[in-house]
Amino acid sequence: MTAPVPSAVGSSLLRVSGLRKSFGEHVVLDDLDLEVPEHGCVVLIGASGSGKSTLLRAIDLLEDVDDGSIELRGVDVADPWVDADAARARMGMVFQAYNLFGHMSVLDNVTLAPRLVHGRDRAEAEDAAVEMLTRVGLADKIRAYPDQLSGGQQQRAAIARALVNDPELLLLDEVTSALDPELVGEVLELLAELRREGMTMLIATHEMAFARDVADQVCFLHEGRVHESGTPAQVLGDPQETRTREFLARLH
Ligand code: ADP
Ligand code: MG
Repeated sequence: MTAPVPSAVGSSLLRVSGLRKSFGEHVVLDDLDLEVPEHGCVVLIGASGSGKSTLLRAIDLLEDVDDGSIELRGVDVADPWVDADAARARMGMVFQAYNLFGHMSVLDNVTLAPRLVHGRDRAEAEDAAVEMLTRVGLADKIRAYPDQLSGGQQQRAAIARALVNDPELLLLDEVTSALDPELVGEVLELLAELRREGMTMLIATHEMAFARDVADQVCFLHEGRVHESGTPAQVLGDPQETRTREFLARLH
């Protein structure tokens, strides 16, 4: 008889297996495997060009892949037969450049997807948007336009936009890299709070102190593969692979 499976351990919300992606001759994702447990926080680190953004874009189905699977709760959403829009609607993604629409108020930026993608009516979408903007500390900026906000406020608005549809998975691609140093903290604090609330997250970042604080697991990407992974203490504090050590040494 087999032992019962412990149920306290979060099952895989996301399981990426054998992912391959080339741009022409250039192999960018090379048989990559990765798992994010439900309520888990996995942080991707690695040199520029190691494939972090391509991986996040592939998971969000913004990038076709050549081979492999991307399972969301056991269903391969990279399968061409799967409705990509429906799968994408279950994920929220935030990019390095906030990508807010400059000609729309903050409120309209946040209600756009609920109305267009999720078919909610305006009043319902606005209620949800106001709630989410309040949660990210922008209750007083609802009617403002992006150019009236600081970079940190714009990025918090972009996070509100990604959260408003209640995603099962939040994908964050170097969301503090474009910010002035004094604005980084407020965005990282918001992410740490989301993490405490149990949001499942996959985060590419160069902020190692943040990774150490929030990650359950750190994955070091090198040449399109997860070269080393483990707890922050293992990967950041006691890396086993030469490439990982070299990467971390270059940051200091
Ligand atoms: P990272 O986010 O870790 O810096 P990326 O995923 O952005 O890495 O890029 C990985 C590699 O893929 C880089 O060499 C980059 O030049 C290449 N790449 C990314 N997107 C494209 C594209 N659309 N066309 C051609 N090459 C690309
Ligand atoms: Mg990138």
